This record gives sequence, structure tokens and C-alpha cells, in this order.
Amino acid sequence: MNRRHLLASGLLATAAATLPGLCPAAFGQAPATAKEFFKLAPLPYAPEALEPHIDAQTMMIHHGKHHQAYVTKLNEALATLPTAPQGTPEELHGWLSNLDAVPEKIRTAVRNHGGGHFNHDLFWNSLTPKKTEPTGDLARALESAFGSEEAATAEYLDKGGKIFGSGWIWLVLDPKKKALAMTTTPNQDTPLAAGHVPLLGVDVWEHAYYLKYQNKRADYLKAVANIINWDVVAERYAKALKA
Ligand code: MN
Repeated sequence: MNRRHLLASGLLATAAATLPGLCPAAFGQAPATAKEFFKLAPLPYAPEALEPHIDAQTMMIHHGKHHQAYVTKLNEALATLPTAPQGTPEELHGWLSNLDAVPEKIRTAVRNHGGGHFNHDLFWNSLTPKKTEPTGDLARALESAFGSEEAATAEYLDKGGKIFGSGWIWLVLDPKKKALAMTTTPNQDTPLAAGHVPLLGVDVWEHAYYLKYQNKRADYLKAVANIINWDVVAERYAKALKA
């Protein structure tokens, strides 16, 4: 070791001794975070897979930053509970279905960030680069509820376009499990709170489309109609009828 190295290591040692947080080994490491009760799952396809309907940059920011922030903030709120939650999808589903039963100090966080996590998970898995169509029982249920698939799409475009501010447009099964319906929720509220079973959800926050579509929300809604994963929607419908 030459003089220069000795001097450099001495300076580092002095700095580390003076400022405990400045230990060289700590550089480049992520700061300690709250426990990850819930985790962000990877996208079920590549971020560019939905182009040209949704662009890769929007997907990366939407999933990696916005969705991640809901997960992080949910975990931070849960870390304040005296007993650790299980962190299962069933647990989150239970909270969102009965928010009044959630401890008051975390209720708003569960509603907003827990709702954000639930809604986005459902959204990513509602989309696919493959072309799919509603078939079988689902196609019949759509026709019975809306008159035709075209009429269902028209109602989706109309109601989605009319959401004031940020929210979601949903295809749901009603609480009696009799009929499909098109509903909307504000912010990150979920259809679960009203007893509806969400079969399909489309994010109508500006962060979902602004980079590519700017103020043209109708164009975004039309584009998303091309990449709906109707196979997944049919699975959710069949599962809901059996439950
Ligand atoms: Mn979003």
C-alpha cells in the first residue's frame, strides 16, 4: 500500500468514525424499508408487449413507480399494526370487502393503497397482447346484460369517458350473481366495497395514458378494448359463479 492509499483509507476511516451512516460499505445499498407484507408481482408480459395500444414507457412507469408506490405505502401502514398481517391476496380481498372492519388508523391507507394494489394487479392481468374474444357463458351473459357485445363496448366507452377526475371502469357481476353490469369507482376504490365481483377493470387515471394519449381519454379507452384478456375474464366469471 503506498502513501496515497494509506492517506485515502485513513480519511475514509476518519469519516466513517465521525459519521456512522457514512461507512463505505453502506454506499450503494438501499435504505432499510418497512417489511414487505405485500410485494409487487412482475408484469405478466414485457412492457412493450401491448404496443401500440399502451406504450412501453407508460407501462414501466405505471407498474414500476405508481403500482410500486401503492404497495410500499400499504406496507408502511401495515407495519404500524401490533400484529403482523399475513400479506395474502385473500386477506387484502377481505379488508377491501369490509373496510369498516379494518382498524381505523390504517383504514384510509388500506382503502387507497390497498385498493391501488388490488386494482392494478387485476388490471395487468386483464390485458394481453394476444387477440381474445368473449365466448361461451361469458358471451351469453354479456348479451343478456347489454344486448350485444357492441352495446357493452359502447357503455364502457361512455361510462369510462364520463368519469370525473381519477377512477376506474369495471365489468362486474352483481352481488346476487345474476347479471353483469358496468360500474365505475373513484380514486382507488374497488367494486368489492359494494359487494360486486370485479371481472374486468380499466384504469382511467391520467397516469395510465397521458404520455401517449394526452387529453384523448376516449382514444385510450378504445385502444384498451383491443387488448382485453377475455380468457381471464371468462375464468373470473366461472369462478365467481361457483364461489
Ligand atoms: Mn394506475
